[in-house]
Amino acid sequence: MKSTNHNPTFTIIGGGIAGLTTAIALHGIGIDATVFETAPVMHPLGAGLGLAANAVQAFQRLGIADEIIQAGRQLDAFSILDERGDVVTRTDSRAISHRYGINNFAIHRADLHRVLLSHLSPSVLHTGRRVVQIDEQPDSIRVVFEDGTSHRTDYLLVADGVHSLCRQQLVPGSVPRYSGYTCWRGVVHQPGNTLHEATETWGSSGRVGIVPLTNERVYWFACVNAPGRDEQMRRLTGRDLASRFRDYHAPIPNLLAQTPDEHLLWNDIVDLKPLPRYAFGGILLLGDAAHATTPNMGQGACQAIEDAVVLADELAKDVMPEYAFRAFERRRLTKTHYITNTSWRIGQLAQITNPLLISLRNGLFKHLPARLNERQLETLYRVDF
Ligand SMILES: Cc1cc2nc3c(=O)[nH]c(=O)nc-3n(C[C@H](O)[C@H](O)[C@H](O)COP(=O)(O)OP(=O)(O)OC[C@H]3O[C@@H](n4cnc5c(N)ncnc54)[C@H](O)[C@@H]3O)c2cc1C
Repeated sequence: MKSTNHNPTFTIIGGGIAGLTTAIALHGIGIDATVFETAPVMHPLGAGLGLAANAVQAFQRLGIADEIIQAGRQLDAFSILDERGDVVTRTDSRAISHRYGINNFAIHRADLHRVLLSHLSPSVLHTGRRVVQIDEQPDSIRVVFEDGTSHRTDYLLVADGVHSLCRQQLVPGSVPRYSGYTCWRGVVHQPGNTLHEATETWGSSGRVGIVPLTNERVYWFACVNAPGRDEQMRRLTGRDLASRFRDYHAPIPNLLAQTPDEHLLWNDIVDLKPLPRYAFGGILLLGDAAHATTPNMGQGACQAIEDAVVLADELAKDVMPEYAFRAFERRRLTKTHYITNTSWRIGQLAQITNPLLISLRNGLFKHLPARLNERQLETLYRVDF
């Protein structure tokens, strides 16, 4: 236990969605944490992001939901389509939104980061500070940076993403797990597009998602089965992808071909095998560093955002932070494990490429009772704060 005769200091490693949202949530309860981020500057980055009702409810708790909603776009429905564009399943968001508020909402990551950063004092965030080691000492935690300098803190919140060095120091062997599919993302300016729903097209060449954003922009992603870190995949251009998906329904081939190669983002899809704990004394894992999931349920960032609110909720109680971290862990393990495991299985189904199995799967999905789908969404959208 740390001594309690001074205001304890809190440090966050990582200025991603988890780190920034946590800094805002802690500021709301009177804790000014210091954030260290490896990137030299906070560039507008990334592509689109779906945020579900649980994330929106968390932002409401933080008092910043309206700004975030304004920067994004509400969607009427989410459909899974086959290669021809025929509907396999369709979930009308409006039907569920009366219970949980906005439940199908998309935003450009850069817009989300802009809003989050605008709620933090510039002095909170220290960029160009890559953490390479943490040392637990009897009365504090020492964070060591790449340039050899260090920083002491009473409590450490580790939010440095799925590849977290600090987590791998605390839990040796907790390396990211490759899903078997790799993914490209892009955002295209498409004046006059009439899209108002998010779709995923599941077919024999892979999976393509399309999500309309604000300002006539469309976010797309394409997932293809491949070995991990494949050099051939790394070299693919938008035109190569358009050719790969040339038999898919409109506007897929055009969207892919229109994306400038310098705007293509490419990642192997990885997650983290569920960890049995997130709290390690005065150190807590948050966001993808704790519970990275494959993106098949669109919940990775949503869970990072939920983390921030639950942590602030526990720290606001008059207990030692170590106890708050344990209480956080008890509140977060079950839901985050459920999402990682379910999303992994959905990914295996979505990436089937054998035509016979595709037709069996689609037939099964068409006959699934809507109630089953709703029940799953309720599990995601229900928050305990
Ligand atoms: C293709 C794809 C689509 C997705 N779609 C969705 C979606 O629709 N909805 C959704 O909710 N989620 C989605 N996700 C998941 C979402 O992107 C992540 O869950 C989310 O970004 C996690 O935020 P984080 O802050 O925990 O981690 P990260 O975003 O990885 O941020 C970690 C931060 O830590 C910094 N950092 C790393 N190492 C260090 C270090 N050693 N020292 C200091 N700083 C460091 C990094 O630079 C980064 O800024 C998707 C993911 C992928 C790959």
